[in-house]
Amino acid sequence: MIDFRSDTVTRPCQTMRDAMANAEVGDDVYGDDPTVNELELWAAKRHGFANAMFCSSGTQANLLALMAHCQRGDEYLCGQQAHNYKFEGGGAAIIGSIQPQPIENEKDGSLCFEKLTAAIKPDDSHFARTTLLSIENTINGKVLSLEYMANAREFTNQHNLKLHLDGARVYNAATALNVDITEICQHVDSMSICLSKGLGAPIGSILLGSESLISDAKRWRKVVGGGMRQAGIIAAAAKIALEENPKVLQQDHDNAKYLARQLNLLPNIEVNEDHVETNMVFAKFSNTIDINNIVEQLKAKNILLTAGNPMRLVTHLNINKADIDNVIEQLSTLLSN
Ligand SMILES: *Cc1c(COP(=O)(O)O)cnc(C)c1O
Repeated sequence: MIDFRSDTVTRPCQTMRDAMANAEVGDDVYGDDPTVNELELWAAKRHGFANAMFCSSGTQANLLALMAHCQRGDEYLCGQQAHNYKFEGGGAAIIGSIQPQPIENEKDGSLCFEKLTAAIKPDDSHFARTTLLSIENTINGKVLSLEYMANAREFTNQHNLKLHLDGARVYNAATALNVDITEICQHVDSMSICLSKGLGAPIGSILLGSESLISDAKRWRKVVGGGMRQAGIIAAAAKIALEENPKVLQQDHDNAKYLARQLNLLPNIEVNEDHVETNMVFAKFSNTIDINNIVEQLKAKNILLTAGNPMRLVTHLNINKADIDNVIEQLSTLLSN
């Protein structure tokens, strides 16, 4: 199968599988798993945070960060398109009793500081307490600039807010900006990173923050059932993903550019190639095309796409240039029939 639906579909490589098979383990709820401890220690140091916590998913890492930053009755500012507002089942509100205050994202994915300022509530019992700004980098494949990150820090300092970065794909941002990851995350109080997307681990995310934030988040992790026992089995693969695979992301970005260019050459498909900043391509089909039919036909050829217009196609470790040539050839045939 050639799977363009997401970078979450990557399969663990043999090195990861060997590491998993041979991982030293203990009970991580007791803090006894040496492989988890090593991953957390390494990750904290690498990203310049005091501590780190291994989580089962990015959704969980974000939820625990929000719950550790905010009390019941607080609110967090976020984008209307933010994953931790729109795509996480409303967890912060449902489980954390934290009110989201979404703001329309700008075209580049950023949040306008004037609009954010207007949304901050006065200290008055009519209102929830605004305590946190949550931003996302990359967002829908777009990169927030280093300047924007620094401005977000300045804004939150000014308004006495904490700053969380949903960095599910933050290594794609660092790759696109050609900077060390710390250039991005130096500005934030906490950050989540998905290890199971472009970085290729089978399972897991990491949450980074201060000692006290991680300690609070660890309590909440237990509450939501995320305390795992011999988690070193999956942490072993996660560590390889985090240490080794940032350097392969450039290939995914190059492949996305190539995919975008080839798609643009097909009739009835339009891609704004300038908008391809990382590993995501958004292809607009003309209205005459039956997209569901295209998706069905390609599935029969072992190519998986998500129906949608624009259609999001994601490149990752398990897609190479030959796979892209293959999908372009199949699409070309379908579109000319
Ligand atoms: C995928 C994603 C998450 C959630 O990660 P899961 O591991 O799928 O729960 C959070 N934020 C962003 C921006 C994502 O893309």
